[in-house]
Amino acid sequence: MIRINIATLFPEMCEAFLSESIIGRARKAGAVEISCRNIRTYTLDKHRRVDDKPFGGGTGMVMQAQPIYDCCMSIISELGENAKPHMIYMSPQGRTLTQSVVKELAAEDDLIILCGHYEGVDRRVLDELNFEEISVGDYVVTGGELPALMLADAVCRLQPGVLPNEDAYSNESHYNGLLEYPQYTRPEEWRGRRVPEVLLSGHHANIKKWQEEMSLEVTREKRPDLLKK
Ligand code: SAM
Repeated sequence: MIRINIATLFPEMCEAFLSESIIGRARKAGAVEISCRNIRTYTLDKHRRVDDKPFGGGTGMVMQAQPIYDCCMSIISELGENAKPHMIYMSPQGRTLTQSVVKELAAEDDLIILCGHYEGVDRRVLDELNFEEISVGDYVVTGGELPALMLADAVCRLQPGVLPNEDAYSNESHYNGLLEYPQYTRPEEWRGRRVPEVLLSGHHANIKKWQEEMSLEVTREKRPDLLKK
């Protein structure tokens, strides 16, 4: 079972998401283990500070190395001496998170995910602990919590026992490089729009053929770049 530790200044923000719905149920059922660790607990500053002004000037604050280092070292020692956690820093400068990166990370035993905030993190702790930087896209958000939750969610849904079966994720967009076919549910007609007849036919081979053709068509229309790959 994969173990994911999230190091953050805002553990409640992460817990609120991770306690609900599919991921919340998967945690309760023991299919995945996810813990959120408050970096502030580890500061040695008497005022419990975790950030300071950047050397060289500039606006904003930088998260200090010491509390992050001590937080991560504490997690690493609790994971046990055989653990080799993959250290990830959520960062707009990192490798872009795609489904193939998700598949790669889903095969790990332990992930430690660091969430930055403010202007980011003192570079030295990233180098010291050999963090890989991973980005959720070429834009900047205020903190690493949402990106970390996106990564954790995507990794968790590939773990055995989280979704009902492998079909639940292997048929979806991006898993095999294509986008998924359109989905419909009841009623059969809504505001004059009918569900494609083939889906009501009960003919499994024809339905599968339609889904494969639509998957290709949707990909060609919305993301032709995926077909080139
Ligand atoms: N000063 C940093 C820079 O220009 O590269 C940006 C800091 S950002 C305001 C604060 C934190 O949000 C970062 O430390 C990172 O953890 C997170 N973050 C922001 N955008 C992100 C993205 N696209 N992917 C992953 N994490 C991101």
